[in-house]
Amino acid sequence: MNLTCKDIGLRLEVENTLLEQLYNTGMKHYPNEFGGLLTGHYSEDMKTCHITGTLLPQKYKSSRYYFERGREGLLEKLEKLYHAEPRSIYVGEWHTHPDGEKGPSDTDKQAMQTISDHEEVTISCPVLLILATSPRGYTPGFYVNFKNKLYEYE
Ligand SMILES: [Zn+2]
Repeated sequence: MNLTCKDIGLRLEVENTLLEQLYNTGMKHYPNEFGGLLTGHYSEDMKTCHITGTLLPQKYKSSRYYFERGREGLLEKLEKLYHAEPRSIYVGEWHTHPDGEKGPSDTDKQAMQTISDHEEVTISCPVLLILATSPRGYTPGFYVNFKNKLYEYE
């Protein structure tokens, strides 16, 4: 699917096969939340983000309404992706909202701001994907943290 964020002129591309893969991974943890990193690359003008993959955390805390990924091993995996052909980099985060809404919670907004401020894998505009999941299927919500505010891709 192709999405745009008109307010700030950014575009997002993601394959449906990847979304299916994330949904299937998320459902293994249903009804608890689950998630990980999003990887991909940017166009030369930096206006289009192409999400191509995910890295899953080895350690995490999760419950029905909470997910926090650990960091163990992720930097090493990102380093490998950076040197792979084609190169891919960290572009953001994803997690599920089992039987929930695709909108971000206040905690989600704060977490994205923290990542923008402090993440050692620095990118200026990290993407947040929330997958509202249920046994019947999923609805994705895509957001981008830009200049201290979370915008929705449509
Ligand atoms: Zn959330």
